[in-house]
Amino acid sequence: MVSPRPTVAAMPAYKPGRNPADLAREIGVERAVKLASNEVAFPPLPAVLQAISATAGETNRYPDNGAVVLTARLAERYGVEPAQVATGCGAVTLCQQLAQAYNDPGTTIAFAWRSFEMYPLLAQVAGARSRQVPLVPGTPGGAADTHDLEALAAAIDDSTRLVFVCNPNNPTGTAVRRAELERFLDAVPGDTLVVLDEAYREFVTDPDVPDGVELMRGRSNVAVLRTFSKAWGLAGLRIGYLLAEDVAVADAVRRTHVPFSVNTLAQAAAVAALASEDEVRRRCAAVVEERARLTAALRERSLPVADSQANFVWLPLGERTAEVAAGLEGRAVITRPFAGEGLRVTVGTPEEDDVFLGALDDVLSSLSTTAAGA
Ligand SMILES: *Cc1c(COP(=O)(O)O)cnc(C)c1O
Repeated sequence: MVSPRPTVAAMPAYKPGRNPADLAREIGVERAVKLASNEVAFPPLPAVLQAISATAGETNRYPDNGAVVLTARLAERYGVEPAQVATGCGAVTLCQQLAQAYNDPGTTIAFAWRSFEMYPLLAQVAGARSRQVPLVPGTPGGAADTHDLEALAAAIDDSTRLVFVCNPNNPTGTAVRRAELERFLDAVPGDTLVVLDEAYREFVTDPDVPDGVELMRGRSNVAVLRTFSKAWGLAGLRIGYLLAEDVAVADAVRRTHVPFSVNTLAQAAAVAALASEDEVRRRCAAVVEERARLTAALRERSLPVADSQANFVWLPLGERTAEVAAGLEGRAVITRPFAGEGLRVTVGTPEEDDVFLGALDDVLSSLSTTAAGA
C-alpha cells in the first residue's frame, strides 16, 4: 500500500463553498444566492470576453510561460521593472510558490489568525511550521478582528522566513493603517520576507490604509500580492501576480512556477481587464456603496459588524455561526461560515443582499423562538 507524507495525510480536505445550482435543485427553488467566495456579481468585462474569443484559436499552443505582454503592462501600471513582477495561477498559487521558495522544512511562516485559510495549509504542504498570532478585538470587549502587528513582530524569530499580512484581512474585512504597518515593517529583520496580501486592495476606501506597492519601495524584504479574481472579475481564469521590491524575490518565485500554469486565455483576459480599469473602478464603487448599505442594514439588526474595507462583511456570530449558516442555506443563501467564530458574507447585488437579509431575519427569529421554547 502507498502512503502520502504524514503531514499531507493529516491535512483537512479543502471544502469549497456549495454550488448554487446544486443547492437550488436540492431544496427545490429556482435559484440560490451565492455570497460565499468574494467574487464580484458583475458578468465578465466586455473587453475580457472579446479577448478570450480572439485568443481561443491559439489554445492548441502552450501559453507564453513568461507572460511577457501582461508582465510589461503590470510593470507599467505600477511603475516597477518587469523583473519585479511574477504572475501566477491565482494569488493562492503564488502564496504556495513563496513558501516553496523561502521555507525549508522546519522553518516558520508567521501570520495573524484568523486570516486567509490557505496560509496554514500551504505551510503544511511545504513542511513549514505555522506561527499564528491572534487578532485583537476591534472594539473593547468586542469580536476578535484586527491584526496585532506588535505581537506579530514579536513572534518573528530566527526560523521565520516568511510573514503574511492580509490587508484588508480575510475574513474580517478589517485593515491595518499606514503608521502601524510602517512601524511593523521597520521592526521585521531584513532576512524575513513580508508579503502584503492585498487581494481586496481595489475595495479600500480609507485613505489611511496604505497601498502596499508604495510601502514596498526601498524595502527589499517586502512584496505585494494582488489578484484578478476579485475586483477584476476573473476568478474562473485563475490569475494573480506578485510585485517585489527586490528582483531576487520575484526571481525566486518564478523558479517555483509550474511551467505554463498561467494559461493563454487568462493572460489575454488580464491584459484586457487592465485596459478596462475605468469600468473596473466604477464597479468597485458600486460594491463599496452596497457594502455601506449592507453594513448599515446589519447594524440595524443589532449585529456588531465592523467597518469592512473589502467586498465582504464579517458577522461575529460565535457559537450560533454554524446554525445560522445552515438556516441560510435552507433558504437558498450560501455564505461562508467559520464555525464558532463568524460568518463571512460577500457583498452581492442589492437584490441578492435583500434576499440574504430577509433570510437572515427569518433564521434569527426562528432560532430565538427555539431558544425561548427550550
Ligand atoms: C481570494 C484571495 C486570494 C486570491 O485568490 P486567487 O483566486 O488564487 O487569486 C488571495 N488572498 C486572499 C486573502 C484572498 O481572499
